[in-house]
Amino acid sequence: MARYNGPVCRLCRREGMKLFLKGERCYTEKCAIEKRNMPPGQHGRLRKAKMVGYAVQLREKQKVKRIYGVLEDQFRGYFAQADRTRGGITGETLLQLLERRLDNVVYRMGLGTSRAQARQLVRHGHFLVNGKKVDIPSYSLKAGDTVAVREGSRANTTIIHATEEVKGRGIPEWLSLEGEMGGKVVSMPTREQINLPVQEQLIVELYSK
Ligand code: SF4
Repeated sequence: MARYNGPVCRLCRREGMKLFLKGERCYTEKCAIEKRNMPPGQHGRLRKAKMVGYAVQLREKQKVKRIYGVLEDQFRGYFAQADRTRGGITGETLLQLLERRLDNVVYRMGLGTSRAQARQLVRHGHFLVNGKKVDIPSYSLKAGDTVAVREGSRANTTIIHATEEVKGRGIPEWLSLEGEMGGKVVSMPTREQINLPVQEQLIVELYSK
């Protein structure tokens, strides 16, 4: 599956905010946003023009794509699915679909220090969903599903390190932990429970043109 392989701190600098793409480093003074919060590139510091209209909508979409680590085609697919879903607000449904991805849930449960790391761990087959091995990062979870580290992966140093590193940060209310190596999807996340500084309505406006 295609994914972005370039420098990730550059993505945060482009959006002008921390997107927390690198795990532990994001919480230290080594974070590029802490050190030099300016757009990347030779003329980055000159890019000060206030954005309006399409540019604002585009940046909001790019921000969400980058946070969840999905590329354009896949993101459009999520939007189309959200748009087809009846009885909800399209922008919120879009975020809900992204939150329900297995790699995101693994990250939110503190079994990976970043979504990128969680995705790699999922791909390597370290997790069970409802007792069955699932190695598809985009696998969509629903209320009542359980996620657990496989028996043979419980000594995996990356996972152990992640659980220790993220201790104390807490997990969202729509998830619950069951022991140190797994948890459950208690309910579907509400917008208030998706703690992201994004204006999803701008994405809807962008794709509705
Ligand atoms: Fe973004 Fe993390 Fe890099 Fe800081 S360290 S710029 S939050 S990816």
